[in-house]
Amino acid sequence: MGTALDSRKQQVAEVLERLHEEYPDTTISLRFSNRLELLIAVILSAQCTDQRVNKVTADLFEKYDSAEEYANVSQEELAEDLNSVTYYNNKAEYIRNACQQIIDEHDGEVPDTMSELTDLPGVGRKTANVVLQHGHDIVEGVVVDTHVKRLTRRLGITKESRPETIEQELMELTPQSEWQQLTHLFISHGRAVCSARNPDCDDCVLEDRCPSSKEDSEVDLASGDPWEK
Ligand code: SF4
Repeated sequence: MGTALDSRKQQVAEVLERLHEEYPDTTISLRFSNRLELLIAVILSAQCTDQRVNKVTADLFEKYDSAEEYANVSQEELAEDLNSVTYYNNKAEYIRNACQQIIDEHDGEVPDTMSELTDLPGVGRKTANVVLQHGHDIVEGVVVDTHVKRLTRRLGITKESRPETIEQELMELTPQSEWQQLTHLFISHGRAVCSARNPDCDDCVLEDRCPSSKEDSEVDLASGDPWEK
C-alpha cells in the first residue's frame, strides 16, 4: 500500500515532468560573468526582482572588478550605486564586509563550501545554494525562494512554511538530479501562471493535480492566499 510520502513523491514527479515540458530551457535570470558577480547579484536579489537587480548590476559590474574594489569603496558611495534596490544600505554593507572576508580568509576568491559561504555577511543558505549551483557546479540543496514556497504549498507538496524545512522536504521527495532545475521550473511557473495574487488556474498545466485550483472550488486565491500563511 502506498504511503503519504509515496504519494507526495509521485505528486512532485508528475509536477516536474509537466513543468519540464512547459519550460525546457529555464535557468537563473540574474546576469553575471564570474562567481563574485554572481554572489553580489544574489545578495542584491533578496526581496527585490531579478529584473531590477540586472539593471543595477549592468553599471555596477562595469565600475567594480574585484573583491578589493568592493571592500575599499566607502559605504556611502556603494550605497549610492545601489540605491534603486530594496534595502540598499544593508546590502552595501553586506557586500563590503563579505568582500573583506573573501580577501582575508579566501585569497580574494569566492569560497566553494556551504559553511564558508554561509559564514559570509549577508549570505544565508539560499544564497549559498545559488552560488554553489551556478558558480561552482555543486548541487548541495534546493533553493527555496518565494515562488518555490508558494507553489509547493499550493500543490500539496508541503505544509511547511520555513524555507529551510521546505528545502529538507524537497530533498527527501526528489532525486538530486532535479534539485537545481526544480527551483527554476517553479519560478517560471510562478511568474507565468501561478502568481501570488492572481493564479491563472484555467490555463495551468497542473490544474488537474492541484488541490488549490480555483476551478471547481470555492477558494478565492485572489482575495487572500490561505497557503501563504
Ligand atoms: S491550478 Fe492554480 S493554484 Fe494550482 S498550480 Fe495551477 S495556477 Fe497555481
